[in-house]
Amino acid sequence: MPTSIPKQDSAKADSTIIPPTMSNNSYQAKKRFGQNFLVDGNSIHRIIRAVNPQIGEHLLEIGPGLGALTTHLVDSGCQLDVVEIDRDLAATLNNTYIGKPNFQLHLIDALKVDYAAFVKDKQKLRVIGNLPYNISTPLLFHLLAYKTFIHDMHFMLQKEVVDRLASPEGHKTYGRLSVMVQYHCHVEPLFVVAPSAFRPAPKVESAIVRLRPKERATPVSDPVFFAQIVNNCFQQRRKTLRNGLKIILKELPADCLSEIDLGRRPETFSVEEFIRLANHLSKYRNTSRTSKH
Ligand code: SAM
Repeated sequence: MPTSIPKQDSAKADSTIIPPTMSNNSYQAKKRFGQNFLVDGNSIHRIIRAVNPQIGEHLLEIGPGLGALTTHLVDSGCQLDVVEIDRDLAATLNNTYIGKPNFQLHLIDALKVDYAAFVKDKQKLRVIGNLPYNISTPLLFHLLAYKTFIHDMHFMLQKEVVDRLASPEGHKTYGRLSVMVQYHCHVEPLFVVAPSAFRPAPKVESAIVRLRPKERATPVSDPVFFAQIVNNCFQQRRKTLRNGLKIILKELPADCLSEIDLGRRPETFSVEEFIRLANHLSKYRNTSRTSKH
């Protein structure tokens, strides 16, 4: 029976672990797939400890690559589905994990996956990935649409993106990504990973973040409208709310925002304030639509 990864002090872990599929060092990383493979054992063990996969859990890894994380996930005994776009890597991965009943590979674009289809017996998924940085933002938005099927997500992203995800209002890193992700999830930045932990080394620092989907006591009444408001407001982040909402306000009664200071900049609005703003405007929107009919 496979066992879970032992709790290991990162200082004791091997400093460099070449994943089994990479041992001949012959694989040429493809830039178009954002391939920067983890080769630092300390970082790999730290990530696995943070995820702490358990027998009986259902994990889904996005972009297993050469298997740096995959090997540990398979060995933990969890049920593991992996989604990989690169045909060459998929063939190698299948050869490596052949005969492992808890491993299943899907050769598909992670941006096109119906994540709900992986759910069995209503068990929520734990999603993990050292994500290709070129698609990380659209992928995060795609995954948020499946948040009710997801227990948690652990991702390696550019540190700058993790800063934006976790940013409170009023900071220069606060923007559309912060509001939308914090609306849907608890965001917990975990630790930074240096470029030297990868091969080839990326130009920027990376960081691990944990996202846990939230159940909101007061959800937005119209999620599409909420996203539109946040998007419009941050298109010109230095401008006031009045400017950001110009197009939306055109269709609404002039006094609909009389209690809100339209001279404030969007970056000063907390997520809760955006929710209240969207729900408030939705009411007027529905009324003006009904009265037009
Ligand atoms: N997990 C490995 C590691 O940590 O060494 C590889 C990480 S590498 C940064 C990103 C991985 O995502 C690569 O294996 C790449 O082929 C894969 N990938 C890139 N775009 C993808 C997509 N749209 N769908 C699925 N996998 C993708």
